[in-house]
Amino acid sequence: MATALAFAVTSPVAPLAPLELQRRELRPHDVLIEISFCGVCHSDLHQARNEWGHSSYPMVPGHEIVGEVRQLGSAVTRFALGDRVGVGCMVDSCAECGPCRAGQEQFCERGAAFTYNGTEMDRRTPTYGGYSTHIVVQEHFVLRVPAALELARAAPLLCAGITTYSPLVRWGTGPGTRVAVVGLGGLGHVAVKLARALGAEVSVLSTSPNKREDAARLGAQAFELTATPEAFRRLRGRFDVVLDTVSAVHDYDPYLRLLRPGGTMAVVGIPPEPVRLRAGSLIGGNRVLAGSSIGGLAETQRMLEFCAAHGVLADIELIPASRLNEAYERLAKNDVKYRFVVDLASLHARRGAAPEPASAQK
Ligand SMILES: [Zn+2]
Ligand SMILES: [Zn+2]
Repeated sequence: MATALAFAVTSPVAPLAPLELQRRELRPHDVLIEISFCGVCHSDLHQARNEWGHSSYPMVPGHEIVGEVRQLGSAVTRFALGDRVGVGCMVDSCAECGPCRAGQEQFCERGAAFTYNGTEMDRRTPTYGGYSTHIVVQEHFVLRVPAALELARAAPLLCAGITTYSPLVRWGTGPGTRVAVVGLGGLGHVAVKLARALGAEVSVLSTSPNKREDAARLGAQAFELTATPEAFRRLRGRFDVVLDTVSAVHDYDPYLRLLRPGGTMAVVGIPPEPVRLRAGSLIGGNRVLAGSSIGGLAETQRMLEFCAAHGVLADIELIPASRLNEAYERLAKNDVKYRFVVDLASLHARRGAAPEPASAQK
């Protein structure tokens, strides 16, 4: 087993603090990854504080993991020592059900093993995430991070990137289409870059006038302040795709009416309360309201290749693990441009005294 040093929470009100944990002995298809960087997703904060009501402790959050392969199981074929790799929201699934065979492991009928605050497929062994020096993951759930991608800025692609890429592609974003990105945060800022790279004309819709400059810098051709009904009247019927990244309570109706006939509004933000919706907003114009949950492994790999080909990376604030609690406080106020990424170098240094994992098998 490999001893990893991690940052964990032990209760909904506890701060993140160092914790030593054992990563499992490598099985034939496992890869031991030395984690370099891990993104701080808003869902890390929700789950650390048990805001979704299903948290178990101790919890090591983090599902935007990038690093290098340090050890290989005896049957691993897809990776070599030193490869730059990533791990997103899942670390295992049944591999046999319909969704798994269709490359939609996130919808595994037995329930995928999520990277943290979940269990392995044995449904007993807890999973611990990426605020950690090392992780052991079976190779099917390990992504290749192309050399063109700067490692730290690529980390958020493993969740924020695939969460926005998948619905943009599924609903036809491309040259000649108009896309509205609602909300400019961790998800929205990556969505703007991806939609532009896919060839669409991109508008940012936001209620904060101070996002205007950033929207332009990130590549949006238009910024629409949606603080008043006037903007919604003016933009009616304009967009092919509306990607809604907002997790605050808001009505979907005004955004649906921005779609051209047959257009799609895809939601990836999760408001804490049920949303009221008028059927007429969908019926008028044959509009589609769709949800989207991350993406399967093959699609996530395609997203990384796409980002490498088009220079798409997250805008990040790199922090040492010792500043995670401060980052959480700021994240709770949406005070970040646009993703915190933890540099695990200081944890690696602190772990330095611990014995190294047994030598590599090949
Ligand atoms: Zn996430
Ligand atoms: Zn399955």
